[in-house]
Amino acid sequence: MPAPRIGLWLIGARGGVASTAIVGLSALARGLAGDVGLVSSLPEFRHLPLAGWGDFLVAGHEIRSVRLVDEAARLVSQSHALAPELVAACREDLEAIDARVRPGTIVGTGPAIHRLAGPEIPTHESPRQAIARLQEDLQRFTAQHGLEHTIVVNVASTEPPVDASGLPDTWDALQDALDGPLAAILPASTLYAIAALDLGYSYINFTPSLGSAPAAIDDLARRRDTRHMGCDGKTGETLLKSTLAPMFRNRNLRVMSWVGHNIFGNLDGVVLSDPANKQAKIASKDHLLREILGYAPQTLVSIEYIESLGDWKTAWDHVHFQGFLGTPMTLQFIWQGCDSVLAAPLVLDLVRFTELAWRRGHTGRMTFLASFFKSPYGVSEQDFGRQFQMLQAWAAGAGGAGPAGPARPGK
Ligand code: NAD
Repeated sequence: MPAPRIGLWLIGARGGVASTAIVGLSALARGLAGDVGLVSSLPEFRHLPLAGWGDFLVAGHEIRSVRLVDEAARLVSQSHALAPELVAACREDLEAIDARVRPGTIVGTGPAIHRLAGPEIPTHESPRQAIARLQEDLQRFTAQHGLEHTIVVNVASTEPPVDASGLPDTWDALQDALDGPLAAILPASTLYAIAALDLGYSYINFTPSLGSAPAAIDDLARRRDTRHMGCDGKTGETLLKSTLAPMFRNRNLRVMSWVGHNIFGNLDGVVLSDPANKQAKIASKDHLLREILGYAPQTLVSIEYIESLGDWKTAWDHVHFQGFLGTPMTLQFIWQGCDSVLAAPLVLDLVRFTELAWRRGHTGRMTFLASFFKSPYGVSEQDFGRQFQMLQAWAAGAGGAGPAGPARPGK
């Protein structure tokens, strides 16, 4: 097998989504897994010169003192999400990746995430110090393995929401403010984004955390000729909302209320039990209905931690709507999805599409990836079908012959 040429750096490298993505990538590279669930394997993307599964070398940042193999084993024994023989076949890869995982930062993450951190995680570092330390890890990994480019994906725990309205719009101004009081509001997800983008690496925010959302971070990406996108992977209940709400709209059926109750029992659920962290997720799940429908029905989103469910998330949605002559009607659905198994292939798809966007020299937000996110940066379109057409249109333009090698070797 040829040596990997692209780094995949996972923030939250030993979490549920990361562990499943790692097992999936290893299984795909070894020819042990099929491509069900992978968007990039659909016929409309087959003409694209996408990277092969063996092209990626994985490493990352993490704050918990656990072992990747144990986390993958937990997905087998507690959640029954992965086949034991698959995890066993990938064990060697998991151990090699674990050895490359470096201590992350908990700057600006709040008490629920602080409680997860092991003793090796620095408790007092300034934003500038944290960025420098993270960059050192990223650069060493990329150089040591002779990688052409590294893609950083944030799959770490959801941080509490941040009021970023006071941040300057340009990278120059934000950089100058990094040692002042303004920088104190920057959460770890944004420090990771700065660290990656400043080096010219790509950054993807799969979480609702602030990440690369601020205009100043987008400015940084453009100045470094690199790319980013987020936020919050659209994997379950919100995927259904963004598919069903356009139907109500296009039939002129008036949605009066939409209630969604979510229960699940993985580590993400533990962190989201904290009201501050939960608020970020609820905001991300709730905004799209009024954007699709053009008016604001009464909505309620609840997220509760029920330990025995493990990685299996159940969402019960009750949609009360009005038809012709004012007649009220109801749609109810129950979605029972395995959270990590829904998310992991999307992480791999995002990485493959981002790698191609890097080779094509795309800079700034990758808006064509909107269909993967609950709150896509720079995109007001929330209809899943239309968002998917944006990806198809990009693929139609990005296919065929193009530069075979990297746009900027060494980045
Ligand atoms: P998880 O709790 O299993 O994993 C998160 C990992 O991040 C943990 O290992 C934790 O120790 C680590 N971590 C926390 N803060 C960190 C930091 N500052 N630096 C480095 N590591 C850190 O959660 P998960 O189920 O894997 O989900 C990961 C993220 O993806 C969450 O934010 C979740 O909301 C988001 N997400 C998940 C899904 C899905 O699973 N279907 C969908 C959309 C978004």
